[in-house]
Amino acid sequence: MSCELQYISVVLLTPAYTEFQSPLLYGCHLFIDIGSLVIVPLGRRSVLGVVWGHLSEAPKVDFEIKLVLEILSSVGKMPPYWLNLMQFIAKYYHRNIGEVTINSLPEVIRKLERTVWEKWIQETTQLEEVALPKNIQLTSEQNQALEILNNKIDGCYLLYGSTGSGKTEVYLARIKEVLTADPKAQALFLVPEINLVPQIESRAREALVGLRIAVVHSGLLSKQRFKNWWQAHTGNARLIIGTRSALLCSIPRLQIIVVDEEHDTSYREQQGGVKFSARDIAVYLARQLGIQVILGSATPSLESWYKSQNHKDRLGTSYQLLSMPARIGNRPLPDIKLVDLQKSKQKSCLSNELVSLIHQKVTLQEQVLLILNRRGYAPVLYCSYCGWKSICSSCSVYRVFHKVDYSLRCHHCGSSSKAPKHCPECGNFEIHPVGLGTEQLEEVVQNELLQLELDGGNPCRLMRVDSDTMLSSKKIIAMLQDIHNHRVDVIVSTQVLAKGHDFDNISLVAVLDADKLLYSNDFRSRERLFSLLLQAAGRAGRGGSVGYNSPSTMLIQTSYPQHAFFQYLKNRDFPGFAHSQLEERKQLGLPPFGYHALLRADAKSIADALDFLSQAREIGRKLMPTSGKNCHIFPPIPMYIQKIANVERAQLLIESPYRRILQDFLDVWQKQLLVLNRKKILRWYIDVDPLII
Ligand code: ADP
Ligand code: ZN
Ligand code: ZN
Repeated sequence: MSCELQYISVVLLTPAYTEFQSPLLYGCHLFIDIGSLVIVPLGRRSVLGVVWGHLSEAPKVDFEIKLVLEILSSVGKMPPYWLNLMQFIAKYYHRNIGEVTINSLPEVIRKLERTVWEKWIQETTQLEEVALPKNIQLTSEQNQALEILNNKIDGCYLLYGSTGSGKTEVYLARIKEVLTADPKAQALFLVPEINLVPQIESRAREALVGLRIAVVHSGLLSKQRFKNWWQAHTGNARLIIGTRSALLCSIPRLQIIVVDEEHDTSYREQQGGVKFSARDIAVYLARQLGIQVILGSATPSLESWYKSQNHKDRLGTSYQLLSMPARIGNRPLPDIKLVDLQKSKQKSCLSNELVSLIHQKVTLQEQVLLILNRRGYAPVLYCSYCGWKSICSSCSVYRVFHKVDYSLRCHHCGSSSKAPKHCPECGNFEIHPVGLGTEQLEEVVQNELLQLELDGGNPCRLMRVDSDTMLSSKKIIAMLQDIHNHRVDVIVSTQVLAKGHDFDNISLVAVLDADKLLYSNDFRSRERLFSLLLQAAGRAGRGGSVGYNSPSTMLIQTSYPQHAFFQYLKNRDFPGFAHSQLEERKQLGLPPFGYHALLRADAKSIADALDFLSQAREIGRKLMPTSGKNCHIFPPIPMYIQKIANVERAQLLIESPYRRILQDFLDVWQKQLLVLNRKKILRWYIDVDPLII
């Protein structure tokens, strides 16, 4: 229906660092609802936009207001909560609203392939419900937690329960309650990694028979991803399970959010895209909507833990702690053993203690998980004659030697070449792989196990799980199935298998490279190591259907067995460990006692990047209020990995004891930086609450 010319504001993807910042003004002769998707002209292009607001009268501007070209009515409207969410993410993380909003829409819509998505919408059928109900009698610990959750419709809860304490059943029972109380309600269940989705999905199907479920993550092909997004957007899917990006879906009747393994760093985008913390945003969103959010972990992040210890943060908010210390069926947690690398005997990277334990477990037909967080054969090739090393030509890191295809691969820029047979510098034939990767570990274990005869003379079966072998979601599911069905005996894996999985026949977990994180510059590295090790230990001794495993063991090879860190770990004293770390951070004003932001700059030369940051720092210092308690801007420094893919990288850190002050400062500062970077010789952005500084 046409009407008088209307004026609307539209959010769209404008080129970075131009003065045209979304939303922009457009006119239209039809009435358009807020949240509608439209195509609008931008320069000579036609681009996707989201209608943000109506103007009550004709704006007084000295340029011509262009007209909306098309309304994409087949997609319907984006819900109001979603628009607010986009606005908040953009503001809090200091990103362009167009970038945040448009990039959160499905790819097929972003590409404006209308006939394609309309066909996909046509094809979309009722979601399947295939599962046999499985009724689990909750334990009294689980029931206590559930009752507290059922008592209220809102609030933020920290479900702190050991690995295998049955947290997943509590989330699902609570979700069931919410979804049955309101026949239109929707729930969101976030997991940190794609490979954890299948397990949660099948358990959710058993627990929530009759309720439609959709999964959303970046491992799906564009078509399936769109269809699942559509099921959420139209309210057809009642439960959405996914990784961090699922939080950006349109879920118009959202009533509850679960963030499983809330401590996991995968919830924070590290590369590319808008860097936001899915956990923090989930908490924000739940508060906005007045709904419940449950964060769960056996090793909570120190930020969340702190808030659950009756400390109200400066916004006056705190989390309610729900504890579930016991494991289901009182299955004992594995015994944690340290092998002192300074004293132990070893022929290879495996200590004799570890080799004999592997033999023992495998002979008992139990499974073994070996964790080493480095893929490839060896992290570097080295010439013993002239000292040549396999450094990447585009990055300031080594290329990793992969023996499978005899290649040198850079894990940062992705470049790869054939590994040389002799030293490219001096021609020496003696070039050696140095250090240990999963490929080599697999080889070492293979050699150790050759000597081993299993029952009936069957060979011992080995599997390597890392991103080089987990090539597709299909492959991942198949590999996990093989582990569950005991078609492998020893699994060599990076950290990917350390968390979340409910394997029932692993009775030995060993970690080979713990010392790397024990001594690192990053103030969060010990927190991460503690959680990695306890999570990894949690994969052992879950003995479900198989049941009667031998006592399970977690073995850590370390050169520092006396370190206080390991005392906390051996006692599984997370509260004690957390307390000691928090005391340290309090002294130093580190999060959660202070707030950080980084200004990052990428340029062709490191001098340009540092120069930009120095200027930015000068501007920042002039803007600082002169009163005592405000922000501190540190001098710029090159990044730890200075060059990646021929881009030189530098950063500077801004620190403040107050989030509000930091945010206000960033608002003003960022506007001035836009003017500073007129020459566009570099790319820069602000990173708020960075995980690594
Ligand atoms: P978490 O999420 O805390 O690691 P899970 O929810 O995965 O723990 O539970 C561990 C195992 O115990 C799973 O195999 C699960 O099916 C089982 N389980 C959980 N709750 C119960 C219960 N009340 N009775 C019997 N088995 C349970
Ligand atoms: Zn050489
Ligand atoms: Zn590289």
